[in-house]
Amino acid sequence: MERLGSGSQAGIAAARLSQAQYDANFSDLHPRLDKHEALVASDRCYFCYDAPCMTACPTSIDIPLFIRQISTGNPLGSAKTIFDQNILGGMCARVCPTETLCEQACVRNTAEDKPVEIGKLQRYATDIAMEQGRQFYNRAASTGKTVAVVGAGPAGLAAAHRLAVNGHSVTVLEARKKSGGLNEFGIATYKSVDNFAQREVDYVTAIGGIEIEHGKALGRDFSLSDLTGKYDAVFLGMGLAGVNGLDVEGNNLDGVEDAVDFIASLRQTKDKSVLPIGRRVVVLGGGMTAIDAAIQAKLLGAEEVTICYRRGKENMNASTYEQDLATANGVIIRHWLAPKSIIGKDGKVAGIEVEYTAMADGRLVGTGETGIIAADQIFKAIGQNFSASGLGALQFERGKITVDLEGRTSIEGVWAGGDCIGTGEDLTVSAVAQGRDAAESINRALAAGLQPATAVA
Ligand SMILES: Cc1cc2nc3c(=O)[nH]c(=O)nc-3n(C[C@H](O)[C@H](O)[C@H](O)COP(=O)(O)OP(=O)(O)OC[C@H]3O[C@@H](n4cnc5c(N)ncnc54)[C@H](O)[C@@H]3O)c2cc1C
Ligand code: SF4
Repeated sequence: MERLGSGSQAGIAAARLSQAQYDANFSDLHPRLDKHEALVASDRCYFCYDAPCMTACPTSIDIPLFIRQISTGNPLGSAKTIFDQNILGGMCARVCPTETLCEQACVRNTAEDKPVEIGKLQRYATDIAMEQGRQFYNRAASTGKTVAVVGAGPAGLAAAHRLAVNGHSVTVLEARKKSGGLNEFGIATYKSVDNFAQREVDYVTAIGGIEIEHGKALGRDFSLSDLTGKYDAVFLGMGLAGVNGLDVEGNNLDGVEDAVDFIASLRQTKDKSVLPIGRRVVVLGGGMTAIDAAIQAKLLGAEEVTICYRRGKENMNASTYEQDLATANGVIIRHWLAPKSIIGKDGKVAGIEVEYTAMADGRLVGTGETGIIAADQIFKAIGQNFSASGLGALQFERGKITVDLEGRTSIEGVWAGGDCIGTGEDLTVSAVAQGRDAAESINRALAAGLQPATAVA
């Protein structure tokens, strides 16, 4: 598929491309395999008895089994095998960095060979089941227990589904007007097309017993103690709602924007031509957000897009695959550069002064050597942080919620999972695993007669 870019209008401007170019640029990155392709791909699996791919999957999906089910012409059985462990297996098939997880661990991932296409096979099976509206679970008889889930992102949805399967009544309280969390507002557009995030929410909640209340924010509309007083258990899956600030001169100039906000508007717009984009764009950061913002800026028609990262290539949080995807789309990645000041003209961004960096005695330092990159738009992708009030006496570590191995927080009756916990890995699949496992822990605690806890407001 041809992915096009480049428009010539100076400054920040909308409608840099034709409609046909937008459509081509934001089409599905990895379209679904057809039946023949899926059979050929599944035939490459050795069905290893000690499958290292399975150990590498945070949700521990039985990968050899689901691949064998595809190879024997049973995609629905395959989908069930996937959903048994990961009810958001459809989204994970689209967004998982398989190159650093299951496919990296695949025994066929050698210099002479290539790994089995596990992600694409997972998408094949889950898409078929979801398109047929095929549900595999019946709810257990009602337990009469109620659980509040805060946040309708991957962690909250996975927890809600597993709790509903076990017969509990779940109320999901979500700050935004839409469910899905970063699946809806953050994932790169070309990884999840055709409103898939919302279709997946509908699929997950179709089991029943899950009520989602939108526009309800913990810390604004209610506190943790309100929830512990009203529900038998609480799961916190609020993700990281805050973004790190950029503390350099010029950071308030017109044209300096948060990459996360840019990506969210891109995900929500029906018409890409209305989105203004710079001719020369600089993205600050080295993670998935930086890569996604940079690629999508290019796909919106920016002429020159440069990622500046303050450390080396090997330190980037974005995988090599993601970095290669960016460079294949024409993004320039420059390492060992830190922002020093943003240069303005008439109140608008005109460029960025950067300082070269180096490691000295184990610390990152500026070398004093500087340079200027011309830019009319700068996206900050320098990390997100946990931001929520109303959490009472909850314990934190490094700014995130402290949990034990089962996802239990420091307050009895309150669990947490996903990006908001100290051990979160900032991956969709890890958030799903933590939500699911916390739900199982809640289920065990409720069965054992957990008493509602009282949080200190
Ligand atoms: C731009 C970007 C691209 C990414 N791309 C990938 C990718 O390609 N692959 C991948 O594996 N991971 C990716 N990630 C990471 C992945 O999206 C997250 O790890 C995952 O979404 C975490 O799930 P979560 O449920 O913990 O949090 P979230 O998805 O953030 O969901 C949290 C939910 O809680 C709600 N909420 C927040 N505060 C409150 C409150 N006070 N009260 C009520 N509700 C609240 C939010 O509105 C949101 O709906 C990306 C992240 C970003 C930012
Ligand atoms: S490691 Fe590779 S070959 Fe072995 S079971 Fe997993 S996908 Fe199949």
